[in-house]
Amino acid sequence: MALLKGNLHTHTHLSDGLFSPEAVIARYRQLGYDFLAITDHDDRIGEDYWQRIPRGDGDPLVFVGVEIDYQPLGQHVGEIRGDRERLYVLNHPARYRLSVEDTLRRIALLKGNGLPVHAVEVTDTGLYKAEYDVEAIGLPKVATDDAHREPHFGRAWIEVDAPRDRDAILRAIKAGDFRLGFSR
Ligand SMILES: [Zn+2]
Repeated sequence: MALLKGNLHTHTHLSDGLFSPEAVIARYRQLGYDFLAITDHDDRIGEDYWQRIPRGDGDPLVFVGVEIDYQPLGQHVGEIRGDRERLYVLNHPARYRLSVEDTLRRIALLKGNGLPVHAVEVTDTGLYKAEYDVEAIGLPKVATDDAHREPHFGRAWIEVDAPRDRDAILRAIKAGDFRLGFSR
């Protein structure tokens, strides 16, 4: 089975990204991605947000999602929606300058408050943050672009060992069946 290349964290002009969803999807198609999640900020999107993301023609496979601003922590959590599966990602701990211990505390607090956390970003806007890619954080580690504009597109991705199906991809990520990729 071929590995599927994808980005789990992308913004559009439906929140603070520069480009339309259509333009962002086209950009990732041009980069050869198999899948892409649109994850605009939940506190900046309109009621019609979910309808305004085109599902596309499968090239790439588009996931809809949001980036949750979890209060009172101010911690961003990515929610990526499959058909039945949902994936929750603790986003960019590096941006908050969290220690590994702080990161573990936040994960425990989120889970204690009923929000699952399946994976942790080890990137900040596509740049690798090795200090979070450690065994002590016992969850799968994902790399994403958190793209808002050029030059964010195509910096960091995952390659998932799964059939070309939204739920299968999310299940494989939860199981850790993927590797990280970086353009530099
Ligand atoms: Zn983001």
